[in-house]
Amino acid sequence: MKHLAIIPGDGIGKDVTDVGMEMIDVISEMSAFDYDAELFGIGSERYLRTGELITEEEFDDLGKKDAIYFGAIGDPRVRPGVLEQGILLNMRARFDQYINLRPVTSWHPFVPLKKHFDFDICFLRENTEDFYMGAGGVMKNGRNANVNIKRKLYDLSVDIVPSSSSGDEFAFELGLLSKKGVERFAEYAFMTADKRNEKKVTLVDKANVCTSIYGMQREIFSKKAEEYGMGLEYMYVDAMAMAMIVRPDTFGTVAVPNLFGDILTDLGAQLQGGLGMGASGNINPGGVSMFEPIHGSAPDIAGQNKANPIAAVLAAKMMLDHLGYEDMGTLLQNAVRKCLDGGKYTKDLGGGLGTKEMGAEIKNALRGMK
Ligand code: ATP
Repeated sequence: MKHLAIIPGDGIGKDVTDVGMEMIDVISEMSAFDYDAELFGIGSERYLRTGELITEEEFDDLGKKDAIYFGAIGDPRVRPGVLEQGILLNMRARFDQYINLRPVTSWHPFVPLKKHFDFDICFLRENTEDFYMGAGGVMKNGRNANVNIKRKLYDLSVDIVPSSSSGDEFAFELGLLSKKGVERFAEYAFMTADKRNEKKVTLVDKANVCTSIYGMQREIFSKKAEEYGMGLEYMYVDAMAMAMIVRPDTFGTVAVPNLFGDILTDLGAQLQGGLGMGASGNINPGGVSMFEPIHGSAPDIAGQNKANPIAAVLAAKMMLDHLGYEDMGTLLQNAVRKCLDGGKYTKDLGGGLGTKEMGAEIKNALRGMK
């Protein structure tokens, strides 16, 4: 019996996770997959009512689950960043979900490059370090700037002292990688490539400019490659952006540090058909992982039966894979594929179906696969 937490969140988050959970229901009817689900009312409505983002009690409850299924967060009535930082980033940090897993594949007909290439890239974005640690500051009017950060792997204090007392205004942001952080990232990357029967990992960086952090990262990845008896390919991030367009079929498992990963995985999302098709996992291999569509709350279409639920259904597929039910995950993906191949899809993809009708089609296809 698997214990799932469901956080529909805001906007279309509810529309699409409802559909995703219908699929999980059908899967549990069809297979040995057995689950219970607890619904969490975390999101903007509650925040606006009570000022609560996520409580300690909720963290405790979520921490006892096998996986979290997440919809979307974001509301035009709330200042940008409050919900994202207070809920989503907070959860990723609390549960130390240090891998952001983003498949970029060409299995469905809406992939723009499909005519030219078949590709199956597994992007692994490091999710906790690099330039996204909030280690920055602004030095104004000759005053010193300092940054103090305390995280599981760090206890860092930096003072920036101006060279003269006036007119030296500047802002800074530090990119930090810890040896432990890179080691666990490298381990996960080679383990993934191994599982996918691949012979190499591609490591993306900018080691010719940011020599300290990405130099250390290369050393650690290279030792790990030796350990696994596998190849390691280095790509500078600028070259990688080009290569993703002209030869996406030459990549398998791709490991990218946080900042570059943010950008490249969005490029990847467009390569594989856009927001309505992209799913992701925030993974802690030894803890609680969270699965979500990559799109936001899309308030313009929320509650109107217009959202494409496929990204959320594919996030449910990733959750099944993660929980050890890969055969069921594959079945769910095949059901989506059957609908798309049969011309059944939502308006964002040029079709005529609403969210619920799309869900009903996938469900039928899934049942037909028994
Ligand atoms: P955020 O800042 O929370 O990531 P956003 O509101 O800027 O999100 P999204 O919510 O991801 O951006 O979506 C941008 C637009 O794309 C939406 O306004 C909507 O029109 C469209 N869109 C996003 N997701 C879907 C979907 N699943 N189905 C159909 N259209 C979508």
